[in-house]
Amino acid sequence: MNAPFLHIDRPASSGIAHPRTGTATVALIVPVHNEESAIAPFLAAVREHTDPLKQAGVAFDFIFVNDGSSDATLDRLIEAQQADPRIRVIDLSRNFGKEAALTAGLDCCDADAAIPMDADLQDPPHVIPLLVEKWREGFEVVLAKRASRASDSFLKQRSASMFYRVHNWIAQQKIPQDVGDFRLIDRQVIEALRSLP
Ligand code: UDP
Ligand code: MG
Repeated sequence: MNAPFLHIDRPASSGIAHPRTGTATVALIVPVHNEESAIAPFLAAVREHTDPLKQAGVAFDFIFVNDGSSDATLDRLIEAQQADPRIRVIDLSRNFGKEAALTAGLDCCDADAAIPMDADLQDPPHVIPLLVEKWREGFEVVLAKRASRASDSFLKQRSASMFYRVHNWIAQQKIPQDVGDFRLIDRQVIEALRSLP
C-alpha cells in the first residue's frame, strides 16, 4: 500500500550516532477525544504493523490519553486494556486539547522512544516500522512527511500551505512543509520536552 506518507530526511551534515542494538521499547501515544468507533480499527491496524517488529526485539506500548470524551471512548479503552496489558489509559478530567493530552502521554511514557499518533488512522501505521528503522540506525528524531494532500479538501490544502508559510516566515525554528506530529522521538528528546515548564 502506498499511502501519502514517506519517511525522510537524512540531513547532509548529520553526524550519525551509534546504531541502537538489542531490545527496545517504543510507545505509541494517542490522544483521543470522542473516538469510540475508532479505537478498535486503530488497534487492529497498528498491531498488524507493530507485532512483526517483536522478532527484531522491539516491543510496543500503546498509551491512550482520553481527552474529556463525552462518548464511550473510555469504556472502549478499558475493554481493550483488559484484553491487552500493553495498553495504558490516561483519563483526563476534562477536554484540554490534543497538545495537552500528548504532553500527559509523554509524561507517563517510560519507553525508549515515543511516536505520537492520531486515532483516526490519518497517520498511517505502515510507516511505524520505517520510523523505528531510522531510529535504530541512530537518529533521535524521525519525521514523517506527507507526500500528497490529494485526500484533503481544497480548503484544508490551502490553509495547511498557508500555515507552513506563515509559521516559517515568522518563526526561527522552521517546520518542514507537510510535517505534523507524526514522528518518532528518542528518550533523550522526551526528557528534553519534559524538562520544559
Ligand atoms: N483530539 C484530542 N483532543 C481534542 C481534539 C482532538 O485528543 O480536543 C485527538 C483526536 O481524537 C485525534 C487527534 O487528536 O486522535 C487528532 O484530532 P483530529 O483528527 O480531529 O485533528 P486533525 O486531523 O484535524 O489534525
Ligand atoms: Mg484527523
